[in-house]
Amino acid sequence: MKIEFKIWAIYFTTILFSVYIHEFGHCIPAWTHGYWAVPTPAKEYISNAVAMDLKQYISLGGVIGSILVSLIVIFLYLNKTYRINPAILAGVIAIPGMYTLRFILSGRGHDATEFQEAQSALGLSYSGHSLDWIFLILFIFGVVVWIIKSKPHYKIIGRLSIGFVLTFIFVVGLQVINNAIFDPILQAK
Ligand SMILES: [Zn+2]
Repeated sequence: MKIEFKIWAIYFTTILFSVYIHEFGHCIPAWTHGYWAVPTPAKEYISNAVAMDLKQYISLGGVIGSILVSLIVIFLYLNKTYRINPAILAGVIAIPGMYTLRFILSGRGHDATEFQEAQSALGLSYSGHSLDWIFLILFIFGVVVWIIKSKPHYKIIGRLSIGFVLTFIFVVGLQVINNAIFDPILQAK
């Protein structure tokens, strides 16, 4: 039971960390251009004064943060010297997994126009699905690496199902709590 708790604690701490890296990534283009920006655990708050053409780079910053944190952990996991806990690998592919689920269910991996803005910053089609596919591939890549390296027993299906439900509740709850705390303080500055 104690080990079980530790696995979940590592997993959700990793999700928290990876979401924060995403929000931090959004703030970097704003900071480098001298704008006010604050990353909170589940949302970035950025000055309303930012120039229109900077907005797509702000979107891109978060997306790059998510891609990098997932890729780095997947490669460290593949490298024997680091002995990365499988729960950390699961934690960094959870967000690409959520984007993938959203992409499959509602046609777009991210709400609002974040992915579209980031795509145009990369010179890709604004209305296309390049980033939806990149996150889908990233998620599948992480899952394949995990299966090949960890050789999971079929009994883990139960934990995976619980994990899926808990992840969904955790990510939605994190956003609701985050916005309830920080919106009144940091919104519309
Ligand atoms: Zn974002």
